Amino acid sequence: MMSKKWNFMLMLTTIFALAGCASTTSVTGGGSNTPAASVAPSTTKPAGGTTVLDEIKSRGKVVVGVKYDTKLFGLKNPTGGEVEGFDIDIAKALAKEILGDEKKIEFKEVTSKTRIPMLDNKEIDMIVATMTITEERMKQVEFSQVYFKAGQSLLVKKGSPIKSVADVKKGTKVLAVKGATSVANIKAKSPDATILEFDNYQDAFSALKAGQGDTLTTDNAILYGMMEQDKNFEVVGEPFTDEPYGIAMKKGETALQAAVNEGLKKLESSGQYAKIYEKWIGKAPSK
Ligand code: GLU
Repeated sequence: MMSKKWNFMLMLTTIFALAGCASTTSVTGGGSNTPAASVAPSTTKPAGGTTVLDEIKSRGKVVVGVKYDTKLFGLKNPTGGEVEGFDIDIAKALAKEILGDEKKIEFKEVTSKTRIPMLDNKEIDMIVATMTITEERMKQVEFSQVYFKAGQSLLVKKGSPIKSVADVKKGTKVLAVKGATSVANIKAKSPDATILEFDNYQDAFSALKAGQGDTLTTDNAILYGMMEQDKNFEVVGEPFTDEPYGIAMKKGETALQAAVNEGLKKLESSGQYAKIYEKWIGKAPSK
């Protein structure tokens, strides 16, 4: 079973109602970026136009943007070359739902900064990459329903005087990643801190390890993956935002959005979502 200490709860309990799991987790801290859970499509394709769902079906493969440097969610295995994690397994399971085979999938690396441009350029069909549903992003992409809930937190070297976000003040060097919600969130909480932005999470974590900053901030779920990579670091304080993850598709691709939501519902009812959750999140270190 999942640890009760985990501060990110699994997913929309109202949608998935995962009996026995959601009830053991606590809701993340009261951030302001949580939109309504179900995202209504705002635009539709003109009748007769080819949709991305049509393209996926005719090419027989879905191209998914995922993280390659985020342990627990999307991490490229340096030996086997395979990319692995919670987001990867969710994407494969959706390929099975949509195309009947989880191997009918191609992964492409995205970062927090490149993911929406790559979707817009049609380099990828969808993003499954620790992406928070926000009001701002809902203007740019279509989101699925929430499939995971995280909250922003802080990673520090063990023994650090920083124990929570209240200790992040003028003179504190905070490391974060470009294009992530974490940057604006920490600026709002700690306007006088110095923020250093990196292109991806491994660069930010390397900088923390090299002593270039006092703390690294992003979703607790991602920070727990870093803690697994180096036990000299720990997550401190309670999460200070809500980060509900959604799968993003190009604006107007409401047929694909419906297929993804349908697939997510099936994963829940079949028990596969719970298995994937347990595999990646259930064994992560508790606080
Ligand atoms: N969930 C946050 C976001 O979407 C942080 C993780 C990330 O950078 O992907 O920005």
